[in-house]
Amino acid sequence: MKFTTNSIKSCTARIGTLTEFERIPNSSFDTPLALIYTKAGSVPHLTKDVFKMVTSTPQMLSVSLNSTLSMFESIKDTNTDFANFVSMKEYISLLTIHDPAFTTPSGHRESINSVPIWTRSGKCVLTPDEYMDVVEAFKPDMYVALCDGDTNKNSSKKRLSKAVQRSETFFEQCLIKHSSSKALKSSELLGVVEGGYDKQCRTLSINYLKDKPIIGYVIDGLHNNGPDVQDTSSEEIQEIIEHTVNLLPPEKLRVLMGCWNPLTVLDLVGLGIDIFDTSYPYVITENAEALTFLCDHSNCNNGGHVISFKRERYVDDFSPICSHCECLTCKNHTKAYLHH
Ligand SMILES: [Zn+2]
Repeated sequence: MKFTTNSIKSCTARIGTLTEFERIPNSSFDTPLALIYTKAGSVPHLTKDVFKMVTSTPQMLSVSLNSTLSMFESIKDTNTDFANFVSMKEYISLLTIHDPAFTTPSGHRESINSVPIWTRSGKCVLTPDEYMDVVEAFKPDMYVALCDGDTNKNSSKKRLSKAVQRSETFFEQCLIKHSSSKALKSSELLGVVEGGYDKQCRTLSINYLKDKPIIGYVIDGLHNNGPDVQDTSSEEIQEIIEHTVNLLPPEKLRVLMGCWNPLTVLDLVGLGIDIFDTSYPYVITENAEALTFLCDHSNCNNGGHVISFKRERYVDDFSPICSHCECLTCKNHTKAYLHH
């Protein structure tokens, strides 16, 4: 896998290309890029056929351990890989630890050498070795090193330092196994920068990861995932993102997971972030909302960028979301149907 970018400056908007994927050599992705959010390997609310119908271009899927860890034994026993097991082999996948759409419970760090993962059947605890066994079975195209990202803007300096230290130890162990693994020859490892909102901790984390053989970095530890992330303003994260991005090697990928609202995403693109995930549309859909920022508001009655279908006023509104829109929803469904 290869990443090339037009900009060697640090904190500025940039475009890039991801190419030379070993599993699907003709796949190519332009950055800034949206990873398609998946649960258990499928795009929520879309069957595979409908997903194919709405997009004919190559896609990269974000896959979290929370919804896929239960497949581990079956994937191992059938000697296949994740992409084949969930029948999504024509798409590139990136494996992450936590699900960006759901709040990760905080403070469950019973053991110094493991990370808790919340699955449908309860809490599982993974050491770096156990995690790498899962990665070797899944064989994702890209994956995130095991990390302690259980921090946010309220975390103490002590907690942030611990998160940085633990993540370094986890990374070390993941890298040893990654480097000697035949199964992971075609998989790329992403380093995880921790340190919350503390510049000193971010610097320490980056200094450790700087010369490691990885394709890029995930900037983690800013939030505990879930719907609340959409309320974080650009102003709250700008300073720490600038500090972090300025220290990262400019030729490497920068990934920022989380259901950031679209306005924040635009600002983050301006700060040089290359990859996001699409948990935001999933989260607002679960909340019975629809996005209308692509409407021409002078031609439709929509103001703002979100409609909430929970409101009673839509119960007998038989007009589409936007009468000028050609999308599948607007062409086929009324607001009353969506409310129902
Ligand atoms: Zn539409």
